[in-house]
Amino acid sequence: MSADIIDGKAFAAALRARIAGQVETFIAAAGRPPGLAVVLVGEDPASAVYVRSKHKAVREAGMEGFEYRFPADVPEAELLALVDRLNADVNVDGILVQLPLPAHIDERIVTTRIDPDKDVDGFHPVNAGRLATGLHGFVPCTPLGCLMLLRDRLGDLSGLDAVVIGRSNIVGKPMAQLLIKESCTVTVAHSRTRDLSSVVRRADIVVAAVGRPEMIRGEWIKPGATVIDVGINRTAAGLVGDVDFAGAASVAAAITPVPGGVGPMTIAVLLRNTLVSAHRRAQVPFDK
Ligand code: NDP
Repeated sequence: MSADIIDGKAFAAALRARIAGQVETFIAAAGRPPGLAVVLVGEDPASAVYVRSKHKAVREAGMEGFEYRFPADVPEAELLALVDRLNADVNVDGILVQLPLPAHIDERIVTTRIDPDKDVDGFHPVNAGRLATGLHGFVPCTPLGCLMLLRDRLGDLSGLDAVVIGRSNIVGKPMAQLLIKESCTVTVAHSRTRDLSSVVRRADIVVAAVGRPEMIRGEWIKPGATVIDVGINRTAAGLVGDVDFAGAASVAAAITPVPGGVGPMTIAVLLRNTLVSAHRRAQVPFDK
């Protein structure tokens, strides 16, 4: 193996420690902690784990967490009524509705009901539009975390060839927008892409967000590339990413492991988005 391992766990821990300090400064200025409301519907075990770890992180950062749980058969109207209340609550800076929602609830209706200025997940179309047009807004946490790791590793990304594999609204598309903003030359690949191996082979930066275990082969990677593996796949062999880690690590300059790479960044960026929202809403200048 020759690649450096990008330690997302350590990076996220340092970011969270910095945020905890900034939260103290915010409380001194605003007289209240930043507040994040998390809404969980149903009993999906993975969602319950995510919500628990988000709450733990919120508390550890010194923020206030508001937790709402509904049974899987909650009427959509009841959920929307809660979102309306949270939109109006002055102590709530961020609202997060854990996805996926049960089939009888329209995710788009719920997501678009959240005030875009409290949408710390960055899923509201207004925030997607702001990102695409270069306006201030909230950027989805996972791709923003990937960008932080890339900038920490590479510094200026200008002119680099980047390939994003995956075009979902929560990872692939916002990742591509962020890399365009960094002046990379960006290719977005997806399930209809022809000859994916040659597309990947010309990339200085590879971001894999597919959801297929070890699909991106080591021999596709350009020597010296930086590889960011967003994928989280549970297999009989344990948790693996979308990239063939051992193969890619023998040619890449740097690579994120799974677990311990991109995953821990997502919650750290959620805290950061909430802190930024609190500063904007309380009109307290944010010292990055
Ligand atoms: P989606 O299922 O929404 O999107 C997957 C994308 O991969 C689609 O654009 C799809 O193309 C593309 N794709 C599927 N098969 C292929 C193929 N054979 N070749 C090329 N592209 C393909 O997934 P998400 O974006 O939500 O998540 C992607 C992965 O990232 C998952 O493993 C998920 O668990 C993980 N994840 C990790 C997070 C973290 O915190 N670390 C957070 C969010 C996600 P098409 O559009 O054509 O169907």
